[in-house]
Amino acid sequence: MTAWIVAVGSELLTPFHVDTNSLVITERLNAIGCRVTRKLVVGDDAVELSRVLAGAVGEVDLVVCTGGLGPTADDVTRDALAGALGLPLDADEEVARAIRARFARRGVPMPEINMRQALVPRGAIVLQNEHGTAPGLWLDRPPTRFLLLPGPAREMTPLLERAVATHVASLSDGTRLVRRVVKVAGRPESDVDARAQPVYARWASQDVPIETTILASPGLVELHLTAREGQGQDAAAALDAAVGELRRALGASVFSDDRRSLEEVVGALLGSTRQTLAVAESCTGGLLTSRLTDVPGSSAYLNRSAVCYSNLAKIEWLSVPEALIAEHGAVSEPVARAMAEGVRAAAGADLGLAVTGIAGPGGGSAEKPVGTVAIAVVAGRREHVETFHFAGGRAQVKEQATRAGLNLLRQFLLDTVRPSD
Ligand code: ATP
Repeated sequence: MTAWIVAVGSELLTPFHVDTNSLVITERLNAIGCRVTRKLVVGDDAVELSRVLAGAVGEVDLVVCTGGLGPTADDVTRDALAGALGLPLDADEEVARAIRARFARRGVPMPEINMRQALVPRGAIVLQNEHGTAPGLWLDRPPTRFLLLPGPAREMTPLLERAVATHVASLSDGTRLVRRVVKVAGRPESDVDARAQPVYARWASQDVPIETTILASPGLVELHLTAREGQGQDAAAALDAAVGELRRALGASVFSDDRRSLEEVVGALLGSTRQTLAVAESCTGGLLTSRLTDVPGSSAYLNRSAVCYSNLAKIEWLSVPEALIAEHGAVSEPVARAMAEGVRAAAGADLGLAVTGIAGPGGGSAEKPVGTVAIAVVAGRREHVETFHFAGGRAQVKEQATRAGLNLLRQFLLDTVRPSD
């Protein structure tokens, strides 16, 4: 089964809005074994959209449109579909009643223009929208079916779920795509690929073939493994075996195969070993703490965090000796170690984590270029201190330093049990 996704909205053709709905739709369609072969973005232009929709008939099994179902003149999706297929638009009394009731509940008079949303191309089934006034539409006209969904994600997603369960899934031949995501930290993409490629090259030709895609972002590499389930094939078992092989090839740099983020994994390790953490950040400016606190329940292990940007802050708040900064510089392993120990001692926490570096674009030198970042984890007498050299601009250096800090902490936690001192 194949599909096109058409995102409708002139704002999606400007530099300010991105079509993210199609990502959600693709994921949902893939899960029922439907392959997306084309994605298009069309402005609020009924003629252009009509041309696209007419061109889909007979080319593809399903077209999913998102957006352009509102009440105003620039919401053109209904009219474009009716025009493309030569269908009249009928006023649907039930939809009209639902829209009126929605306005009445909110005590707001209904603009007459909203009745446009009650117009339905003849033969289409209405999908009631509990989160907005624009109903979705399902038009079952083989060989090509049309699913029209509203633009706002909170309206679109529940309607998509319902439409897939009620109408779309039965069109699929029963195969579904199963996906696993293996996340790797602390290795560059080229290194991950060099180690993983000989492993996944074999998977394409096995009984249950597995497709592999690599996605890299600063400090994080994801391997997406996809297999088809159906006709007696056990995709889940094949993927489990594949994930095991990757884990063996990549070692402890694999931190998740269940969609968990680095901060969730770190949080679970801290929680299960019942250790508390204090953090001192310089060049990351609080980003690392922000990530840690993205995890619900992080107050159980995160004691405190200090953003100490100036030398004086490091001296006053973290008790870093002035002479240490003078001798080694604020971006150095001895200062990172002293920051981590200073914040740990002040908090009375089990672990201290500190990051100090040069995010750029200024501040670099021949000895310590932009992207130099020292990170320290301390716990009692145990410590790990490491210097990294990250590439990229200020935002990328901050991102990589944050991920490296979290990853260093993760590896430290894996290597040690609860400190006894
Ligand atoms: P409503 O009448 O409820 O607004 P609609 O179908 O007319 O529904 P649009 O007016 O096209 O929706 O879009 C409303 C908003 O939804 C847009 O301003 C945008 O923020 C968001 N949106 C629309 N399409 C997309 C998309 N493809 N990806 C991400 N966001 C989108």
